[in-house]
Order: sequence, then C-alpha cells, then structure tokens
Amino acid sequence: MDYLREIIDLMNSQANKDIELVSKAFTFSESVHSGQLRFSGEPYFIHVRETAKILAELGMSSTTIAAGLLHDCIEDGKATREEVEELFGKEILFLVEGVTKLGKLKYRGVERHNESLRKLFVAVSQDIRVIIIKLSDRLHNMRTLEYVPEHKQKRIATETLEIYAPLAYRLGIRKLSRPLEDHAFPFVYPEEYKKTKELLKTRNKEQFHKLDRFQKSIKKVLAKKNITEFTVDYRMKTLYSLYKKLARKDWNIEKIYDISALRIIVPSIEDCYRVFGIVHSTYRPLPGRIKDYIAFPKPNGYKALHTTIFTGYGNVVEIQIKTKQMHQESEYGIASHVGYKESVVENFSWIKKLLPFKNILSEKKEINFEDVPSWIKDLVEFQKTSGLEDEMRSDFFQQRIFVFTPKGDVVDLPINSTPIDFAYSIHSSIGDHIGGAKINGKMTSIETILNNGDIVEIVTKKQRSSKKKWLDHVKTASAKKHIKAAITKTN
Ligand code: MN
Repeated sequence: MDYLREIIDLMNSQANKDIELVSKAFTFSESVHSGQLRFSGEPYFIHVRETAKILAELGMSSTTIAAGLLHDCIEDGKATREEVEELFGKEILFLVEGVTKLGKLKYRGVERHNESLRKLFVAVSQDIRVIIIKLSDRLHNMRTLEYVPEHKQKRIATETLEIYAPLAYRLGIRKLSRPLEDHAFPFVYPEEYKKTKELLKTRNKEQFHKLDRFQKSIKKVLAKKNITEFTVDYRMKTLYSLYKKLARKDWNIEKIYDISALRIIVPSIEDCYRVFGIVHSTYRPLPGRIKDYIAFPKPNGYKALHTTIFTGYGNVVEIQIKTKQMHQESEYGIASHVGYKESVVENFSWIKKLLPFKNILSEKKEINFEDVPSWIKDLVEFQKTSGLEDEMRSDFFQQRIFVFTPKGDVVDLPINSTPIDFAYSIHSSIGDHIGGAKINGKMTSIETILNNGDIVEIVTKKQRSSKKKWLDHVKTASAKKHIKAAITKTN
C-alpha cells in the first residue's frame, strides 16, 4: 500500500511544490522515527502518517500536512529543531513546536475549569493550525486507545471528552468532534455506552426500511415540483450525542426525534426555502420543531432549515435542508477556511479577538474583517445580540492571568499578581524563601506585575525572607495569609 500516495490524493492542491514538500516530510519523518514502537506494537511512524492523513482529509494545506508528519519528530523522534528548520523552514518548525508545547501543557491552576483550559489551549497555540494538528493527533491516539495501559485510558478519554472534543466542536469541526466523542465514550462511561448502543440497535432495526421508503417518496415529490438539483441522504446521530440527549430525556428514546435525519442538499438559500415549503405542504410537520438556522444560525455557525414531519409510514423524521456550502462548513468549520485560504488567515487575529485574553493576545494590527469567515462574523453578531458577549466578558478571564513555570506548568492568578503571589501559589515554603524572580529569563523585582504568558522562575534562599511590605504587592488570599503568618512568627 502506498501511504504517501494516499495522502497526496487527498490534498486539495496537486501542485509540484506541495507534493514535494509532503513527500520530503514523509521520508524524513519515516527515517527519524525508525525503530520506535507505539503501545500497540506498531511502528511509531504509523501514528504521524495517520495524523497527516486526517489533516489531508480536512482539506489542510501541504504546510500543515507536513507539520503533521513532523509533529513528534523532535520530541519523540531523532530530529533536532535545527534540522527541521533547515530542511522545512521556520513556519513548519513553528507549527511543530507549537504542537509540542500544547502536549506539555499541564493545567495546575487554583481553579480547575475545563473551559479555562480550552481557552488557554487556544491562547497558547497562537495559530489555529497548531490546534487542528493537535486535534488530529488526538483523534489517532483515541483510535488506538485500547492499546494504552489501562490506568491511563480513562484519563486520556476524559480529557478528550472534556477538552478536545468541545474545542473541535467550538471550532465547528464536527468531522473531528464526533469521532473524538465516540471513541472516548466507552472509556469514560462504559455502562451508559452499552445501554445507549443497545437502545439504538433495537431502534434502528425498526426504522431503517421506513426511512428508505420515505427517502424514495420525498425524491418523487421534489421531482414533481421541478426541483432537479438536489441530493438526499441520511445521517445517524452519533452514540455520544444520542447518550447526552437520552440523559436529558429520562432515557426515553421515543422523545428523541432526530436519531436519524434526512438531509436534503440544494444549490442556493432560495432553494432551501422552496424545498422547505414543498415539504411542509406535502407532509404534516410536528409543532415546535421548525427551526430556521439560516436566519438565526447556531452559536457555532451552524446553518440549515430543520423540521420534523410525519412521514405517513407511521413514524416521524427530522429533515435538514441546506446548501452544499452550509454542509461543508458544518462538517469542517474553521478547517474549511484554513485549508483554502491559509495565508490570509495565518495570524487568526479574529479568533484571538473573540477570546477575552489581554496581554498574551494583545492586538497591534487592526483586524481586517474582510478576512473573517462569515460564520465567525455571524458568531460575533450572535454573541452581541444574545448577550453571550457580556457573559464572556464578565467571565473568569477578565480577572485572571495565566503564567508558566519554566517547565511549562500553568498557574492561573488574579490580574495584577506578582512573583510573590506566584511563589506562594506553588508552595508556601517557596513563598517564604523568595530570593529573587526571573520573568522570561531576566532577573526582575519580585514586585513586578505579571502578564499573561510570562514564564516565571523563583530563586529561593535559605533564610526566611517574608516582609510586611509584601502585603501591598500581593493579590492572592493565600499569599496574604502566609505572609501574615510568617511575619508573626519572626516577630
Ligand atoms: Mn503525536
């Protein structure tokens, strides 16, 4: 099997330079990973090759696919960063190192919010392509999770379910969020997984041929009304999303109408509404289930018309009507824009703008809204009109900053915190013995206000050093408490 050929065939661009780049990365990666094995006993190279294939399937460019092939070559393989830069350039090195950095991120905050970890992820990666590579990497790791030692499985699967899958969903990449969820599901909730699977099996047996008959009849109806350019297909609800819905509906599968849905894809928005009209004048709709996500897209940018109708075969079915572009965007989300216009959206200033981070993402350039994909603009609009924006602004992030230990551990602190707060949040004995502080490698006063993204190192000394005046330079309650205790002791 020619795996390189397979990746190349999936690529949008068949230009020589793109094929050459991916081929070169393929060969290089294969050689630097030679002799390494995964838990499954398979050669390590299979993992990076499959990651690259997922990226190609998402429509990513040769640069990102090459970075996917190289994503573990410095950390786990035999390559050096100098080699990668010399052979593949600064941009690919930046992507590879970004993925490595994300892999090292261990959240050790005072407040362990999953939402903050997701946002932190975006902030640290700085380039959306880094996240897309990381998500693809995680998808392949999930596909092979059964080979990982059992005690690690649940942690990895939980992290996938709580951090990675929601992140993929937020970016609109259902092509990644759905399989991430479904692979994680049995490891995190084994009982619920079995129960859901059983329910769905029984249900599908009953439904399948009814749906097939209905599909044929709807095609006839549309043809009669001179709608000729359309495709009809099914989509089945994935197990994990069915489970989430079941859990909300007292496990009553009869209350879930969109286990299977019929998708009608047409060329234009106008066609969507025409088909919608035909469907409603032919079949009786179920009240309360008519949704115009074209006029009012979902927060993640999803657009379509949804309705649930009585088929006449004794069942109800959800019908989704959308254009090809809407369908494409609902499957690939941000990836569908990155892939085609990678150079334009390289800096992703707009996604940073969406996040309520301060310094780490401070914008020097004005944002050119021409470059912003429409569904993101819609998202911004939606947030404004729905008040979601206020919610985001009032959120935790307005009051917190994230700084790093030299090892890459993340510590979250209130805004205006100093190295003294940092030291006490690591350990009270470090706080009590501060000798000095390095911020981003430079010796600095311990009273310096920290900024998002700073790397902080505390130099300790033997004797206790806590001083009363420190109280004016700390924000955290724990630092205050410990300083007071320390000065009482010495007096
Ligand atoms: Mn990897």
